[in-house]
Amino acid sequence: MRRKTRQIHVGNVAIGGDAPIAVQSMTTTYTRDVESTVAQIHRLQDVGCEIVRVAVPEMEDALVIGEIKKRISIPLVADIHYNPELGLEAIRQGVDKVRINPGNLLLGRKSMEKIVLAAKERGVAMRIGVNSGSIDALDKVAQMQRVQVRLRDDGTLERSDPAEARRIERENLAERMVTRALEYISWCEELDYHEIDVSLKSSTVLTAVEAYRRFSQRSDYPIHLGITEAGTLVTGSVKSALGLGLLLAEGIGDTLRVSLSAEPEEEIPVAFEILRSLELRNRGVTFVSCPSCGRVEIDVISVANEVEKRLSKVQTPIQVAVMGCVVNGPGESRDADVGLAGGKGKGVIFRKGQVVKTVPEDQFLDAVLKEVASLLPAAEASVVYPEGGIKEVAGTHRTRDEGMNLPILPRA
Ligand code: SF4
Repeated sequence: MRRKTRQIHVGNVAIGGDAPIAVQSMTTTYTRDVESTVAQIHRLQDVGCEIVRVAVPEMEDALVIGEIKKRISIPLVADIHYNPELGLEAIRQGVDKVRINPGNLLLGRKSMEKIVLAAKERGVAMRIGVNSGSIDALDKVAQMQRVQVRLRDDGTLERSDPAEARRIERENLAERMVTRALEYISWCEELDYHEIDVSLKSSTVLTAVEAYRRFSQRSDYPIHLGITEAGTLVTGSVKSALGLGLLLAEGIGDTLRVSLSAEPEEEIPVAFEILRSLELRNRGVTFVSCPSCGRVEIDVISVANEVEKRLSKVQTPIQVAVMGCVVNGPGESRDADVGLAGGKGKGVIFRKGQVVKTVPEDQFLDAVLKEVASLLPAAEASVVYPEGGIKEVAGTHRTRDEGMNLPILPRA
């Protein structure tokens, strides 16, 4: 059961309540470079990003918010640290939401109240973002528990259990993050402002999970999920899938970002994959492919990667399978909307459980994408399967009898 939260609006996107869990990202361009920023936002929109955040480190960045807003069609969030004037200017420029960490605003509560009043007047939402990095270092008790060594009467040393000490540290830190967030919320409520969501991020998965769990038991404001500074494409995706997945499976979370040290466009498919896997969103392609093994006689890895890449912009829910051999291939392919089950240098194409035809390796891409396109709305179909069909081929020829890695002959 999804946790019941109140609903807020960020531009035309609802967050919380019964709204779908929204996927966000953040640009990596210098915001004042309007052309590059708008181009990156358009690329993010193309792959399904629903809310985008931009950094606003200086006044030049705040002053172009209005221009950026005019040229994009998803809600825009301004990321503000230290200087409240940047938040006030972003709000004047028409931003849809400001993200602040009240703990690092100059003049603290006084600055936050100025931003809250401006946001309230203009109907702008606010994310209160508490990061574990901005919470004081370990308190004294936790520090002592971490390194405690006691001399027993018999002269031997007794050391504290490191795992237990880490658990206590984690719980202390999470509790301090939640206490801070609730305090900041109370400042907003005193000004009768409620368009708030909250993030409690940490680069340590278990700390973030602990903080979000605790907050969700004590507040009904919507929650933005994220594991901050999670790492590169692989490490960040794994940490995010684990941390966000645990919370989402418990019904916690109304919007999320997968933070990666990668192009922001790479964050969106990972986020949707997490949501699809938990059956919380069904947008886009559910992709099934086998890892291949010593039984395989097609280059399933290359074909699967190429098919997935070519379907990355599809938003219509559809299941596609690319399988290497007869062991699991026909079953998975039959269950998918479109499937390819490989055999000896050939593949059987399935559509909605029925065999359509058998094609040689150099026609795999054409055959799979043609069938997928036939199930999509016209606008998406023309991108997936352009007029004239797919001329390219994917992969190398594999066969146990003749050796492997022979190039596939180009299509006539
Ligand atoms: S489907 Fe066939 S090729 Fe793929 S992993 Fe399974 S047994 Fe191996």
